[in-house]
Amino acid sequence: RLYNEVIELKGNIRVFCRCRPINQVEVTNGCTSVVEFDPSQENELHIISSDSSKKQFKFDHVFGPQDGQEAVFAQTKPIVTSVLDGYNVCIFAYGQTGTGKTFTMEGTPENRGVNYRTLEELFRISGERSNFMTYEIYVSMLEVYNEKIRDLFVENSNQPPKRLEIKQAADGTQEVPGLVEARVYGTEEVWELLKSGSRVRSVGSTNANELSSRSHCLLRVAVKGQKTKSHLWLVDLAGSERVGKIEVEGERLKESQFINKSLSALGDVISALASKTSHIPYRNSKLTHLLQSSLGGDCKTLMFVQISPSTADLGETLCSLNFASRVR
Ligand code: ADP
Ligand code: MG
Repeated sequence: RLYNEVIELKGNIRVFCRCRPINQVEVTNGCTSVVEFDPSQENELHIISSDSSKKQFKFDHVFGPQDGQEAVFAQTKPIVTSVLDGYNVCIFAYGQTGTGKTFTMEGTPENRGVNYRTLEELFRISGERSNFMTYEIYVSMLEVYNEKIRDLFVENSNQPPKRLEIKQAADGTQEVPGLVEARVYGTEEVWELLKSGSRVRSVGSTNANELSSRSHCLLRVAVKGQKTKSHLWLVDLAGSERVGKIEVEGERLKESQFINKSLSALGDVISALASKTSHIPYRNSKLTHLLQSSLGGDCKTLMFVQISPSTADLGETLCSLNFASRVR
């Protein structure tokens, strides 16, 4: 019985590792790959350190540079579609800036990511079930930056953005009063809607990529069935890199402290869930507080640990892999 419980619990938390291809700049700079894959082992990789020693890491699945968006979604699909059966689900992309978090979640027009593919699949299944089930699907998009929550479906005006707060509902779940929920009926409108959220996210910053690396972007898909209402959260986390000592001052210092705090709070929550600790420290950050009703219990969690193959990123890669081993 105990054995079954452990298996069940473990089954609710999954970690996938994805390594992006080495890029032209890295090749030009003489960088090589420190990641070794064994084609016969879909769940492990080796990191070759500068002294040629190898360290093995195991995950629920490992995706290498040649694995495309379809291959990634094939493994993700059963988890995301369980939202139609009444499960709350959280999917995170964790890793250093430039490792492919946004590529995995958002993707590009030619190579769409998990977010779009998920909605496409939800529409497909709800269509199949339409003669005995009706689902209403709503999407919301928000950003957590410096512990402040902002609605990405509200266009920026000249006024400072309205801050959203987390409230506890009568049934004990967390809600965000005033958050825009857009009802979606089909795939045609979804890509544009997701793009518009991303655009709002970067308005007001001089460097879009810079700001997006320092905030968490959350897409919430709410599925209302006849008897169920479930949430699927698709989260593109802030970059996990440690900021260099010299750059860290003023606004940048505050930002990096908030990022460290929320990413370690997330790690603490997931590892507390994995180890069946009774106290789960949800309240330590806006991110974990917001996701409280969708983390733990019979909710499903998937973490993508995104890594770079480059020799230049070895230190950050080891940090990310160690973080992931801790939550697994
Ligand atoms: P992050 O969001 O973690 O900062 P990005 O998603 O912006 O990283 O990825 C950085 C760059 O690498 C982008 O140009 C992206 O298109 C590219 N990239 C990332 N992952 C892959 C991949 N698996 N295959 C091809 N290109 C990728
Ligand atoms: Mg990004």
